[in-house]
Amino acid sequence: MNSIFRPASRIEDLGVSEILAITARAAALKRDGRPVIALGAGEPDFDTPDHVKEAAIAAIRRGETKYTNLDGSPLLKRAIRDKFLRENGLDFGPDEVTAGAGAKQMLYNAMMASLDPGDEVIIPTPCWTSYFDIVRIAGGVPVAIPCPGEGGFRLSPAALEAAITPRTRWLLLNSPSNPTGAAYAERDYRALLEVLDRHPHVWLMVDDMYEHLVYDGFRFVTPLALDPSLKDRCLTINGVSKAYAMTGWRLGYAGGPAGLIAGMAVVQSQSTSCPCSVTQAAAIAALDGPQDFLAARRDSFAARRDLVVDALNRIDGIQCRRPEGAFYAFASCAGILGRTTPGGKVLESDRDFCAWLLDEVDVAVVPGSAFGLSPYFRISYATSAAELTEAMTRIGDACGRLT
Ligand code: PMP
Repeated sequence: MNSIFRPASRIEDLGVSEILAITARAAALKRDGRPVIALGAGEPDFDTPDHVKEAAIAAIRRGETKYTNLDGSPLLKRAIRDKFLRENGLDFGPDEVTAGAGAKQMLYNAMMASLDPGDEVIIPTPCWTSYFDIVRIAGGVPVAIPCPGEGGFRLSPAALEAAITPRTRWLLLNSPSNPTGAAYAERDYRALLEVLDRHPHVWLMVDDMYEHLVYDGFRFVTPLALDPSLKDRCLTINGVSKAYAMTGWRLGYAGGPAGLIAGMAVVQSQSTSCPCSVTQAAAIAALDGPQDFLAARRDSFAARRDLVVDALNRIDGIQCRRPEGAFYAFASCAGILGRTTPGGKVLESDRDFCAWLLDEVDVAVVPGSAFGLSPYFRISYATSAAELTEAMTRIGDACGRLT
């Protein structure tokens, strides 16, 4: 007898991320021999540093290939605590840090550990696509606050104040941001923290994944360092994926109140158990090892950001704000909508525009709608300057053919 799979209601309306779908489509076209330039995925093009790889190989040789402590070995937790203290001025105890298979797992553990049905999570949008669905899977209600480009894609204190209800459990902030690259300066954070001061039932979750990728001398800060009184209601999430070009190794970590950290370990204990033992050795080397190569990588990203933003702003119909950090440019295509392709199709949305770019000139970018703000598109500029130059020429030529 044939049986048709009936998904659980908690995932019924969810799909795999649009970014992964576009990346898969671009890869399929490439296999067909098309000269695709993929600017969809959010992944540094640098290699994992050699000293990190060597540490992993040495760990394998030492036989560190067994289960470790559930949410990170004591040595890894030491390295995480040292990192938080050295780079962020945050002093966490051993029971106030945790590690798992990526910052994504940290977010997932935290939401699963803290949300009851109907609990609200305030999420400034545009935002990373996973935030909404993680909250939904955990039974919570994502509350989107639109943060338009005119305000630098940043949440304003007034908008935050207006969104808080008695059911608000978390405010989730990400700086520098995926997908906009916008970052909160100290004064921006202070204004938001004043609002949180008035609402002690609201906890703050911050995603600092792009901490090391800030440009033009921008000073990265994390909110807890600005207001230590938040310590009993703030979770600070970070990871090695973006800073050390370690996306495939899967290691993220977080610091926060011991009760929440213990709850996150409960969730992890019934899903993935400990993060990969070999990866933990690599992460220790990344966090404890030399940091000087980060500056050269940062300079390289900054140059590529300028290349992309300048080229986009030269195209009639496209406008792009120069972001403070991360490796994304988030450009408005409002001026393109309503125009007609040589094939006679009217481009009516950012999704139309991105699909057409891939068909017409083999450039894969992600529509703003995937991140909750239209009409925009996101370019990941973590690829070679030569490819970026070629992609910008192709986008410019394509737009020039619209009438
Ligand atoms: N937060 C943000 C804002 C991201 O862009 C990403 C990766 N795209 C993550 C978290 C997850 O990183 P990872 O799970 O690889 O540590």
